[in-house]
Amino acid sequence: MQIAKSIAEMKAFRVKSHGSVGFVPTMGYLHQGHLVLVKQARAENSAVVVSIFVNPTQFGPTEDFKTYPRDTERDLAMLEKEKTDIVFTPSAEEMYPEGFNSWVEVEKVTERLEGSYRPGHFKGVATVVAKLFNMVEPTRAYFGQKDAQQALVIKNMVADLNMNLEVIVTPTVRENDGLAMSSRNVYLNPQERQAATILFKALTMAQNLWDKGETSAETVRQQMTSLISREPLAEIEYVSITDANTLEELSTIDRPALASLAVRIGKTRLIDNIILA
Ligand code: AMP
Repeated sequence: MQIAKSIAEMKAFRVKSHGSVGFVPTMGYLHQGHLVLVKQARAENSAVVVSIFVNPTQFGPTEDFKTYPRDTERDLAMLEKEKTDIVFTPSAEEMYPEGFNSWVEVEKVTERLEGSYRPGHFKGVATVVAKLFNMVEPTRAYFGQKDAQQALVIKNMVADLNMNLEVIVTPTVRENDGLAMSSRNVYLNPQERQAATILFKALTMAQNLWDKGETSAETVRQQMTSLISREPLAEIEYVSITDANTLEELSTIDRPALASLAVRIGKTRLIDNIILA
């Protein structure tokens, strides 16, 4: 497995590689959720590229950029086992040199949910992913349904800017008790870890209501909200039922819908979602 620390090394690999390239962008501190993306990339492509870059421009000034968990040695060992061809670990200095001035802004789909609670987040995400796409030139890029809005933003960007690759979204990987795997779960103390199961419980409740024929989005939102409110360590940011493609808030669930939520458990902000279809 090769490790490319510079953009030049990454591009040199790409020039030499023949056949399809599968690309998995990550911020590292890998878990099974990331590895499912890598395994699928491995199964579908001649070469697999994984990037590890904690992208400063997608964190707000009061967010956890500095404390975001990092363990590159461990990540590299995990990626080697998955037969990754090359791991790209650029520095922030090389990604954003002095005088960096160009940004990618995806409109509409970025305005709601995460976008409204994390101003500037998707500008940072779209910009770094566009840059990485230009460096890696992937045939296919893999993103997790865990970050449903992010996947939609990237799909929009690729379509709008005619980027020459396929975006593939893979299902959310969960712990045994339903908690979606996330690098940020490491912040949770044992009590908080227990409380964090409330996110998946609320989503499961939404699924059950929908399965029983409930089509009022407001009823589903209210039931989810009231369940989460009973967990003393949980503080809701949003509970939302939207059109799964446009992310417009629904009053009636009459098309594929995204049930999504952001909840703070202590200081840790967790997000999760499911599709009601
Ligand atoms: P991150 O390192 O958090 O930026 O995530 C890198 C990629 O892994 C993104 O496409 C995420 O959506 C995806 N991912 C993170 N957690 C999970 C999970 N539990 N299941 C599936 N994909 C995930």
